[in-house]
Amino acid sequence: SLSDRLTGTFKNLRGKGRLSESDVNKTVRDIRMALIDADVALPVVKEFTRAIRERATGAEVSQALNPAQQVIKIVNEELTEILGGHTRELTLAKRPPTVIMLAGLQGSGKTTFAGKLGARLKDEGHTPLLVAADLQRPNAVTQLEVVGERAGVRVFAPERGNIGGHDVGGSAEGTRSHGDPVAVARAGLAEAQARQHDVLIVDTAGRLAVDAELMQQAADIRSAISPDEVLFVIDAMIGQAAIETAQAFQEGVDFTGVVLSKLDGDARGGAALSVAGTTGRPIMFASTGEGVRDIEVFHPDRMAGRILDMGDVLTLIEQAERAFERGQAEEMQRKLLAEEDFTFDDFLSQMAAVKKMGLKSMLKMMPGMGQMSGALDMLDEREFDRVEAMVRSMTPFERSHPKQINGSRRARIAKGSGVQVSEVNQLLERFEQAQKAIKQFTRGGGMPGMPGMPG
Ligand code: GDP
Ligand code: MG
Repeated sequence: SLSDRLTGTFKNLRGKGRLSESDVNKTVRDIRMALIDADVALPVVKEFTRAIRERATGAEVSQALNPAQQVIKIVNEELTEILGGHTRELTLAKRPPTVIMLAGLQGSGKTTFAGKLGARLKDEGHTPLLVAADLQRPNAVTQLEVVGERAGVRVFAPERGNIGGHDVGGSAEGTRSHGDPVAVARAGLAEAQARQHDVLIVDTAGRLAVDAELMQQAADIRSAISPDEVLFVIDAMIGQAAIETAQAFQEGVDFTGVVLSKLDGDARGGAALSVAGTTGRPIMFASTGEGVRDIEVFHPDRMAGRILDMGDVLTLIEQAERAFERGQAEEMQRKLLAEEDFTFDDFLSQMAAVKKMGLKSMLKMMPGMGQMSGALDMLDEREFDRVEAMVRSMTPFERSHPKQINGSRRARIAKGSGVQVSEVNQLLERFEQAQKAIKQFTRGGGMPGMPGMPG
């Protein structure tokens, strides 16, 4: 993964002066691959990496981070910024009702989202009304009614006017497509004013591809009800087509915010960057399932991490910076020496050295090694390769933070090295014992001649 690749280049060489072009190039190349993997549209990738290179090259080298970390930090900041910087709340009208209109392609998740947003607002103490202004698909109105019932939110539908969400049935499906969605939207607004609903959520029609007639219809609905928010709903799986679609809706209807739907799938969220990057509009919500509660407020910083797929690295960077900002650089160093000195990386280089000597007995003769019987057992030649495979299946982060190796990481390491999880557990247990023994020992004056040992 990207995170492995990048952490691999973290050599802890704290830079002096300014970031060099080659530092930046190396990292930007990896970042570009990560963005493409995340399905960010190519023009956005291009523009984004250009901006990063410009900002990073010649930037003053941070005291807290190494060059690769620093470039990643810049990338993360820029990603977060493009995605809207901070979480953006719905703008509520000073005089209710607040009017929210949904727009987007057919199947993007508008109707589903209408229910989710309604349920959420209701939970927050609002009295939302859903309006069925999609008269294009035969069963669109019925679908919104079902969604409304599930959300416990009233639905205003054409022809029958004032209808509760559970009051499904009635007129023939076919007749509905002849209604006027603009009139329905207007009537819905009047209904909200009359019945004191403080938020109106207007569901609209979409087609599978951008379509002039429907775009005009959405624009007409917009002018008829002057919404406080127009939310453009886009399927996170749309991939490279994100830019085109978003631009068409921005020109045709314009929108104030974006809802990223189907984020529960495999999508790494590249569409978020494509849309935000080309339209400059903030992403406000994420839709994460078919259920009425599967809605999340969108957090730009978290999405940046998801796009880069490098939670661990970002955490590390954050930790390094925080430690430094507190003026604890020395303490961190002391901590590194005193508590986390013996890492799996040290362990690997020791194993390599021992392998070379081929003399387990020699190790036994070394002062203090008696206490490390557990570790010595591990160094039995037959187990050597298995242990090495396990350590090599760990990420650099895991090697230096064995305590962070949780259940899912253990399972991954076991799979990667072709051993049972129980063997990984055993290795970690023994490693911890060895670490303790070594700590005791180093406090007692160091261990001469041990390769890979700090001291
Ligand atoms: P609309 O045509 O824009 O109104 O889209 P719909 O709300 O009818 O959604 C189209 C399909 O996508 C339906 O089958 C929904 O159940 C499904 N869907 C909508 N949002 C999500 C989501 O966040 N996650 C998943 N997995 N499916 C979704
Ligand atoms: Mg719909």
